[in-house]
Amino acid sequence: MAAAGWVGAISLAILSSSGPELRPIPARFEFRQTHMGSEFKIVLYTTGEAQARLASDAGFARIAALDKALSDYDPESELMRLCDKAGGPPVKASDDLFRCLDQAQAMSVRSDGAFDATIAPVVRLWRRARRTRVLPEAETLAKARALVGYRAMDLDPKARTVRLRKPGMKLDLGGIAKGFACDEAMAALKKAGITCALVAGAGDIVVSDPPPDERGWRIGVADPEGDPDRPTRFLVLKNKAISTSGDAERFVEIGGTRYSHIVDPRTGLGVVARASVTIVASDGTTADALATAAYVLGHERGIALIEKIGASGLYVQAGPKPKTYATRHWADLPGEIPARK
Ligand code: ADP
Ligand code: MG
Repeated sequence: MAAAGWVGAISLAILSSSGPELRPIPARFEFRQTHMGSEFKIVLYTTGEAQARLASDAGFARIAALDKALSDYDPESELMRLCDKAGGPPVKASDDLFRCLDQAQAMSVRSDGAFDATIAPVVRLWRRARRTRVLPEAETLAKARALVGYRAMDLDPKARTVRLRKPGMKLDLGGIAKGFACDEAMAALKKAGITCALVAGAGDIVVSDPPPDERGWRIGVADPEGDPDRPTRFLVLKNKAISTSGDAERFVEIGGTRYSHIVDPRTGLGVVARASVTIVASDGTTADALATAAYVLGHERGIALIEKIGASGLYVQAGPKPKTYATRHWADLPGEIPARK
């Protein structure tokens, strides 16, 4: 479920005459562009439209550059060119690609492989299953699974090189790239002088300082019994990131079983849990990858991992027996209705 929603004071007046001098009041600006197959939004507060446009252009330019480097749909992307060299010697990577792979690898280690960017050969089979509604054949799946395993990807931070040890290995950064892109766009906005902004790519959202006269950015979170498009539970966040992963949007139903687009690397199967996980973390990259990892792990191990990493999370089990599981400090987040047990 995409957890996106906010309200902020919409300042129409640019000048306030409450004091003896005229003081500029920041106005709200909103921009949208499509990248990485998703709609990205930038909402920001500043006093002039020219600055708002310059800053949002810089933010979207970062996202576009990352899309070009990290996409697994574009055969010309840097990521895909790296995959073409799987089985060969180490390959020099750009700073963007290296940092994103490094963060992906860190999440693989922490989640004991529940998050794994080398999952691509298996994800491809499930993408085809979504189109054909036919399960991948056991033998094909076994071959693809043999290529999966983050331990066969060597990252050399000094040389900035990446080596995929097995020929045929492929990478998929779909579980982390949008959060990474939101972080990088936010950094570009800050460089352009914008300190009060929201950057969202579908269910991955990063926010900086609160809108004028607000405690934070109001963001809707999943409710197991609610309408996904009309959230009834909200968090009010500042200088944080929030991401949601689950089976709500992309899945395939075959033989009465619903398989998510997120795959369990241990089994090679689309995760069948009817659930979504919402993570609040200090950065978008962590929130995005952790939401994917915790969804794969299920509520018990998932919540334990979120706590170990020092983030907050809510595992929402949908379906006939709706239930929520929260990390210890979830209820302390401002603006939330406490999780039901
Ligand atoms: P969304 O893209 O819907 O916001 P996620 O952030 O959870 O959701 O990312 C899902 C994508 O991550 C999948 O479409 C696939 O490209 C990739 N993926 C699937 N399973 C895994 C996994 N176990 N580890 C890492 N990435 C995965
Ligand atoms: Mg994710």
